[in-house]
Amino acid sequence: MVQLMETALRDAHQSLLATRMRTRDMTPIAEEMDKVGYFAIEAWGGATFDSCIRYLNEDPWERLRSIKEKLSRTPLQMLVRGQNLVGYKHYPDDIVTKFIEKSYENGVDNFRVFDALNDVRNMEQCIKVAKQQGAHVQGTLSYTISPVHNVDTFVEIAKELEALECDSLAIKDMAGLITPASVYELVSRLKEETDLLIDLHSHCTSGMTPVSYYAACQAGVDILDTAISPLAWGTSQPPTESIVAALQGTEFDTGLDLKVLNQIKKYFEDIREKYGSLIDPISERIDTDVLLYQIPGGMLSNLISQLKEQNALDRYNDVLDEMPRVRADMGYPPLVTPTSQIVGIQSVMNVLSGERYKTVSNEVKEYMKGNYGRSPAPVNSEIYKKIIGDEEPIECRPADLLEPEFDKFKKEGEAEGLIKCEEDVITLALYPAVAKKFLKGEAQEEELLPAQQLVESNQLSAIPTEYAVEVDGDVFDVKIIPTGFMEIEETEKGPFTPVEGGITSSMQGMVLKIKVNVGDKVTKGSVVAVLEAMKMENDIQAESDGVVEEIFVSEGDTVNAGDTLMVIK
Ligand code: MN
Repeated sequence: MVQLMETALRDAHQSLLATRMRTRDMTPIAEEMDKVGYFAIEAWGGATFDSCIRYLNEDPWERLRSIKEKLSRTPLQMLVRGQNLVGYKHYPDDIVTKFIEKSYENGVDNFRVFDALNDVRNMEQCIKVAKQQGAHVQGTLSYTISPVHNVDTFVEIAKELEALECDSLAIKDMAGLITPASVYELVSRLKEETDLLIDLHSHCTSGMTPVSYYAACQAGVDILDTAISPLAWGTSQPPTESIVAALQGTEFDTGLDLKVLNQIKKYFEDIREKYGSLIDPISERIDTDVLLYQIPGGMLSNLISQLKEQNALDRYNDVLDEMPRVRADMGYPPLVTPTSQIVGIQSVMNVLSGERYKTVSNEVKEYMKGNYGRSPAPVNSEIYKKIIGDEEPIECRPADLLEPEFDKFKKEGEAEGLIKCEEDVITLALYPAVAKKFLKGEAQEEELLPAQQLVESNQLSAIPTEYAVEVDGDVFDVKIIPTGFMEIEETEKGPFTPVEGGITSSMQGMVLKIKVNVGDKVTKGSVVAVLEAMKMENDIQAESDGVVEEIFVSEGDTVNAGDTLMVIK
């Protein structure tokens, strides 16, 4: 017998509906879903926390409680990004501990814990605390293909997770890359060499997934992740009802009732209609490029948006060629939040700046120094020297270097009148900038356009300049600024207009910090400003010794590639 884990309330709408499903659209069907007999219902974590406070003006903790209230027999599952929790950076252990404790207290029964690098040290604290609560803990293999990943390495990681007393193990195939033959071998070996329940999680992006699911059954998989059919296929999971029907009458029979599922399907057909304006046709298509480039589907469409934004769509193929090289330089990280973003942006920078690693995001520097954890293979030592110099990388678990933060955020939040309960402190610690607006009550629910109205409004209005770009299910806001004044001829010599003594921005982005004042003396290579582009931070350095003569931008300003930020003479 095989069990199913239903993703409709988390991954399915994260994959297809930009993570925008409202709690009020989840609770009316939750009781019906509870009757199905799923292994678990995934309803929290991943990008949903961020989306709640950023776009929906919803308290994620309240969502958790109100869904849990409707589930009396089915475990409620969440996805947690190890030490990154539901964010994009490492949080200190005290925040991790509080987050897991409060998640359990508010209703999470099963914790699926992963790390983008499969560095078990980054999962340890979550696993330990969740076990202490008495929760079901699912360790995770972030599945990828590379010269340094093979069945043996995955089995080794699984054994480490078993030693930490995980109850089950997820094979997280976020890009839908796993083939029937490879999943058969992997599941067989995991069943032979561990006592863990094995759960296969994949996406239909490449088109192979239903075949791989059947191969996994033949190898003895215990749980398959599926989505109710209106929210299945494309970049989401295989359809629940189809898998139920396909396995009926075999030794893998799920025992689930198609009639009960049909009621749930009808409900989600309406939901799909309601959120239709959010469905990107690309996310519904089978994308076989994924098989060629081994890059998650969302990353490819994201790349196109970034290159358009930088007025350099003609460099798309160069970036596609560059991406595997950057990934190799970084020791073959699996491409999942946040490594997918870090590798993708660096590849764009390497191509656009005309010299590899001339411009390097702070995230890449931190990664190279070991602050995201241990890379699957050693990083390229020449590139390391070029980016970091003589400074040694860290050897310890990255979170060992972080100071506790809970009390600091508690004091800060209380001083500003933002805190009503401990959950608010956690929300603030996870997303300081976005959370403040939400906790002050100043956030607004984003408007949900009917599909038809969206088409009409696009026809009537001018060219849209603000877009939401989705990467691997996480949504980033992008503002497109017209660059009509950019001279095409300049691209022959290089993308940017030289101004004497001028420090220019190499990318479209936002000025995060200005680190100098007019009149300051600076030395060549010192950091004068920090620019944020697509959530990556980039140091802007002085190109020579001199004095800051003029500064043209302020913190918070949006700038274009080639804009002069300041003059140093
Ligand atoms: Mn997924």
